[in-house]
Amino acid sequence: MTDMMRAWEVSEPGPVSGAPLTLTQRPVPTPAPGEVLVRVRACGVCRTDLHLAEGDLLPRHRGVVPGHEVVGEVVGLGAGARRFTAGERVGIAWLRQTCGTCRWCRAGRENLCPTSLYTGWDADGGYAELAAVPEAFAYRIPAAFSDEQAAPLLCAGIIGYRSLRRAQLPSGGRLGIYGFGASAHLTAQVAIAQGAEVHVLTRGRRARELALQLGAASAGGAFDRSPVPLDSAIIFAPAGELVPVALESLGPGGTLALAGIHLSDVPTLNYQRHLFGERTVCSVSSNTRRDGEEFLVLAERLGVQVTTTPVPFDRADQALRDLAEGRVRGAAVLTLT
Ligand SMILES: [Zn+2]
Ligand SMILES: [Zn+2]
Repeated sequence: MTDMMRAWEVSEPGPVSGAPLTLTQRPVPTPAPGEVLVRVRACGVCRTDLHLAEGDLLPRHRGVVPGHEVVGEVVGLGAGARRFTAGERVGIAWLRQTCGTCRWCRAGRENLCPTSLYTGWDADGGYAELAAVPEAFAYRIPAAFSDEQAAPLLCAGIIGYRSLRRAQLPSGGRLGIYGFGASAHLTAQVAIAQGAEVHVLTRGRRARELALQLGAASAGGAFDRSPVPLDSAIIFAPAGELVPVALESLGPGGTLALAGIHLSDVPTLNYQRHLFGERTVCSVSSNTRRDGEEFLVLAERLGVQVTTTPVPFDRADQALRDLAEGRVRGAAVLTLT
């Protein structure tokens, strides 16, 4: 008889005010060759899970288990897996597999691999008691972070870090951050610790308070004009209508990075107001493993503080509703005991 576990699956994508997620019993996964089996201790709730549940991001297969900010303990090894040993703490993140041979993989841009696979989208993720992952795509977790604190580092942190690099912030420059959830609050700290002046523009009074506590130079409303011209900006909110707003606050030569996997339509841009002066707009697609390894080292070294809201495992559906309503401070994390 197969061992069973509890897992949340996307049963019918739709508004989270309904019930797109269902708590089910399913067999414990068997680690394939080169994979490790992980007993999940914490799993972050990412906005991508919300997009998946609501159908903005179409599930790659029916009944997929979301969750790609997984911290747990290795409890099983597939054939040939030897990077980790049983009992080790590891992290499972979004990027799960790349081909290793295409022109993007060979150029060090595996995030653009056309046959890449993702945890909690192509394969079952961490809204479950156990999850499997190819060992080559798992991470060791810095000792400074508890399971609950480490979980949001694995997507919110890593993607935010890549977004910061994509935003081409000059040394000591001025960075605008639009939206201030899990990813933004981590990215802001890295930027500030590296000498940047950070201006946060977001809805939600508590998010603005957190931004100021973490050292932001200013915190205003989402559609406010930045108090100073920006060298770089990152939009974390999934709102395309912020693109012209952010571009208007960029100084000459500035770069705007769009961090999300999903963005509502961008309104018509005016060349003079929004783009002239060599302003650049770029998107951010997933991350490379190198981004992940670099960020985890930096997060520990710079003393990044992770603000989390713990949620019991059996309330994952409520956690997504809270995220949709902007009620989460920092990052929501499912905790399993
Ligand atoms: Zn490839
Ligand atoms: Zn994510």
